[in-house]
Amino acid sequence: MSIAEGLASIQNAIPSHVTLVAVSKTKPIEVLQEAYALGIRDFGENRVAELAEKAKALPEDIRWHAIGHLQRNKAAIVAPIATLIHAVDSIRLYDALSKHSGEKLDVLIQIHIADETNKYGLTPDNFKKILDTGEAFNHPNMNIRGLMGMATFTDNHSQIAHEFKGLRTLFDEIQPLVGMDFDTLSMGMSGDWKIAVDEGSTMIRVGSAIFGARN
Ligand SMILES: *Cc1c(COP(=O)(O)O)cnc(C)c1O
Repeated sequence: MSIAEGLASIQNAIPSHVTLVAVSKTKPIEVLQEAYALGIRDFGENRVAELAEKAKALPEDIRWHAIGHLQRNKAAIVAPIATLIHAVDSIRLYDALSKHSGEKLDVLIQIHIADETNKYGLTPDNFKKILDTGEAFNHPNMNIRGLMGMATFTDNHSQIAHEFKGLRTLFDEIQPLVGMDFDTLSMGMSGDWKIAVDEGSTMIRVGSAIFGARN
């Protein structure tokens, strides 16, 4: 399948309120240029050095999404480049990013929903507790726009649906506490974006289903 076909098959299947982030990690600049020429403006990268290099080489109207686990010592590099940082998985990372945020930095809190220990994120209970006490996640120059989560890597459709449903429920529960700007639920990848959209995702992060397998 070509990039154009891969993109079209997803774009034609998602409702207009769902944003497609094209995950271009490991792919060379020319591949991103091809997607850009096809109208894509939201690109996702998970390595900071690669993100910085691509942002320098590509047009300025691209919205860069930092999607992977982020180390605190990369906050200074990523904050000025990324339109949205998807994977804030600790108070310490949030605090580090706030030091390098300008007026406002849009971030998502990553919530651990998978039945796997090797994925990052706060537990739903932990996140709710932090919000309730108000003692963290409260910098005025940080804008928590929503939540991000990754389902278990499994063929079990109902398990994936259950995990995404739990994240959507948490999102709806928390929205009134955080406010109007809390409007983004980033869930769904190549293998599970259809389930995620059915369960209320507003943003899917799709790589290999558009660009082909990564090495
Ligand atoms: C790589 C990656 C994706 C995209 O993965 P595909 O399975 O290729 O669609 C989505 N989200 C995160 C956090 C990733 O690291």
